Formats: sequence, C-alpha cells, structure tokens
Amino acid sequence: MSPDRPVRVRFAPSPTGLLHVGGARTALFNWAFARHHDGAFLLRIEDTDRERNTQQSLDSILASLRWLGLDWDEGPEIGGDFGPYFQSERAEGYVTAATRGLEEGWLYRCFCSKEILAQDREEQQAAKESLHYRQHCRSLKTEESLARSQDEAFSLRFAVSPGESISVCDHIRGEVVFSSDEVEDWIAVRTDGSPTYNFVCALDDAAMEISHVIRGEEHLVNTPKQLLVCRALGFPEPDFAHVPLILGQDGKKLSKRTGDTALEDYQSSGHPPEAMLNFLGLLGFSIDDHTTVFSAEEMVAAFDLKRINRSGALFDTDKLAWLCAESIRTMDVDDLLDRVRPWLPDGQDGDWLQSLVAAYQERIGLYGDLPTWAAWALKEDWETDAKAAKALADSQAEELLATIADRLDGEESFPPAEFPEWIKAQAESMDLGMGKLMKPMRAALCGTLGGPPMEEILALLGRERCLTRLRVAKISAPPDARRTAE
Ligand code: GLU
Repeated sequence: MSPDRPVRVRFAPSPTGLLHVGGARTALFNWAFARHHDGAFLLRIEDTDRERNTQQSLDSILASLRWLGLDWDEGPEIGGDFGPYFQSERAEGYVTAATRGLEEGWLYRCFCSKEILAQDREEQQAAKESLHYRQHCRSLKTEESLARSQDEAFSLRFAVSPGESISVCDHIRGEVVFSSDEVEDWIAVRTDGSPTYNFVCALDDAAMEISHVIRGEEHLVNTPKQLLVCRALGFPEPDFAHVPLILGQDGKKLSKRTGDTALEDYQSSGHPPEAMLNFLGLLGFSIDDHTTVFSAEEMVAAFDLKRINRSGALFDTDKLAWLCAESIRTMDVDDLLDRVRPWLPDGQDGDWLQSLVAAYQERIGLYGDLPTWAAWALKEDWETDAKAAKALADSQAEELLATIADRLDGEESFPPAEFPEWIKAQAESMDLGMGKLMKPMRAALCGTLGGPPMEEILALLGRERCLTRLRVAKISAPPDARRTAE
C-alpha cells in the first residue's frame, strides 16, 4: 500500500562514536524505504550532547554511509529546504515551542530539587511501586510558578493527562498501547535550559515533515512522549516502524563482544560494501522466502515495511563471510583488482597483479586476505606454516625438490606446456604419488599447502624465483618444525 503523503524519512545519529551495525541497518532501511517510494532520505545530526560530540565521529559516520552507498537528499554538506540539519543550530525553534508549551499549559515548571526527587524514588522503590514523578509542581498556580522562576532553578515537564492511554500504531509491531502511568510527567527541558531528546526529536520530525520514523526497537518507549508533543502542537503524526533488535550468537542484544563492529573496521579489513549492505539488509528484512543474495537496487525494488520481522535478527558472522566471498567471486576481475589495490604493495606490474587476483578470486573472503594469503608471491620474506614446514622436513624432500628443479630448468617453456600431464609424468618417473610430489613443492614455493593450482603458482613466480625456492627450500623451514616432523 502506498503512503498517503510524500515520503520523508530520516536517519538521526548522534556524533558521539562510530557508526555501528545497528545504526547502519537503521540508515539502510530508511534509505531503501525512501528510494522505493521516490521520497527523501534526510540525515539529521543529533549533536545536543556537547561534551560527547566529536568532529571525528561525524566525519566517520558520513564516510561509512557513503561507503555503503547510502546517499542522503538533505543534510550535512548538502543542505536542503528544512535545515539546519544539526540540532545544535535549531535551538531557537526549541525555545519557541517550550514557551508555547508553558503558555498553553502542556508544559509546566518543576522546581523539585535533586534531593526531593531522590527521596521520592527511594520511597517508591521501598514500596515496590513503579518509579514516577509525583507531580508536586503540577498544580502550582501560574503566578506562583512565575514568581519562583525568578530565583529558583526549574525544569519543564510535560503534563500527561491522568488515565490517558497513548496508542502507537507501528508498522512492524502493530498497535502498542502505553498508559499515562508508564509515560509519567517527563522532562522536556532540563534545569540548565537544554531540551531533552524526546522533545527535540518530536519537534524536528514535525518541522522536517517526516512521514515515517523508522528506527531501532529500543526507541519504542520514547514514541508515546514524542506523540504527545505532536498532538499538543497540532502537528501531523508520523507513522512509526520499530525494527527488531540485533542479537549476537549468544541470543542476547548484539555487543562488541558478539561482533558489533564499527563500519569503519569492516571497510578497512576489506569487506566488499555490497556484501555488507546485503548482510545488513538481511538483519530483519527479506526480499522473499528464498533469496539471500541481493543488490541495493533489488532491495529498494522489494522494500516493504511489511517484510520486516518482529523477532530479533541474528547477527550471523558466517553469513557475512559467505556473502563477502560470494561478492568477490562474482566480481569482474578488473573491478576486483581496483578494489584490492590499496591492500597491495606499490610498484607491481599490472598484468602480473591481475593474474594474482584472478588466481585468488575464488579463494579470498576479504580484500585484506590477499596480501596475507599471497605473501609468497608479493614478497620474499614470507613465512612457512606448520604443515608446510612438516612437508619440507620429510627426509626425501630435499632430493625430490632438487630433481624437480633440474627438470623444470631443462624445459623450454615455463611452466612446461601441458603442465598437468607433465607433472603427472614426473611423479610417475620418480615413483611418487602426486601428493608426495606436490606437497613439498607447494611448501617450498608458497610456504603453505593450500593456494592456487601449481601451474598458476609457477607462472606467477616465474622460472628464476621457482628454481631458487625449490633449491633452498630447507632453509626457510623453522627448526622446531623439523624437529616435530622427525
Ligand atoms: N539520536 C538518536 C539515536 O542515535 C535517534 C533516535 C531516533 O531515530 O529517533 O539513537
């Protein structure tokens, strides 16, 4: 069903840290919803916490959104008709709304000291009551409130009507009803004059004509407060969609320990952004009942709030690894070469690098795997792993490698033409199984028993490097590995 007003959605990060998985997923769902409905995707920076905001965090959030390809239509660096897009620059509007709230009586001054509030809390805890403000200042006469405000500190509280139930119609969770007791007379403006998140969020969503608020489930409890502000001011109410929590492998809310990594880190370890976007998309959403791999365009085409799950979304790192490998496997090799270049040493020949990338395209899961896995091809001081060292420590290995080096040296073309037959013939003539020959060869050439086919290894290294490595292989085996093999 099409929304009945122009779609305008927002992602509203606080620049107090890096963009993590949960925030990126929220941004993606908002972006996909806006693009699906030809609407606008806004970026609003909730930078009211002056002590914790940093420019570095803002830069990193913007860079991570751009890396994922989540372009915004209004917001920082591009502006728009509903700005400013930084809450720190919108103070005037908040003061106007607070003044109006006082005049109209839906906000009232609260002069209760910290001590009074703490004592109330203690009593409520002792009586096992739910914690709430006891409304001491709610019935102060206007004149008294005004007079006390001259020399006493006060906050502004929202006057929630007693017995009222506030119902939130959520696209994902259905109708959720809150009672006025649960909402209580919450603080809209603190004693230091700074407005609270719930107050400014509602004001900005209204001023920016936000049609749908799509955000994490942890904000559901804030929604009745924000709705009350909308209603008091007679603003149109946005629709709401609260997306499910992301759960770590332990079934609990995703944490740093269970893999909640900053997008910046995924980028620097070489995750393809398409795979990351696909993975984030699967955290609670599905295109249909069977598709796992999809592009941003396919997600946009299929995006529907109805297809977002209510239950927690499992953060499955194996799935992410699989999606990354799949994305790399299906890339055009030139494209892959461009993408992995930042992870490779400078000064390598382009055609040679392309062959290296082609040899590893089916193997690597991240761009950053290539310099490690192909270290044997990229530099001379690569390491021999334990299995390879064991293969080299075999008593026959040295002689066998010298023989194969001589035979390779005697061939006109390198690698020898019709290599599979050639190597098979060598193994037979030496009375060896293929494995017996290949293992020490791989170990000597690459320091590991895995990797691309032997013919590709030979081609990548070239004749001279191969012969040298086959002839001096023993030297690179660590002495302790020789000991374990003996
Ligand atoms: N600044 C809030 C956050 O980062 C935004 C919440 C909202 O989308 O309303 O959680």
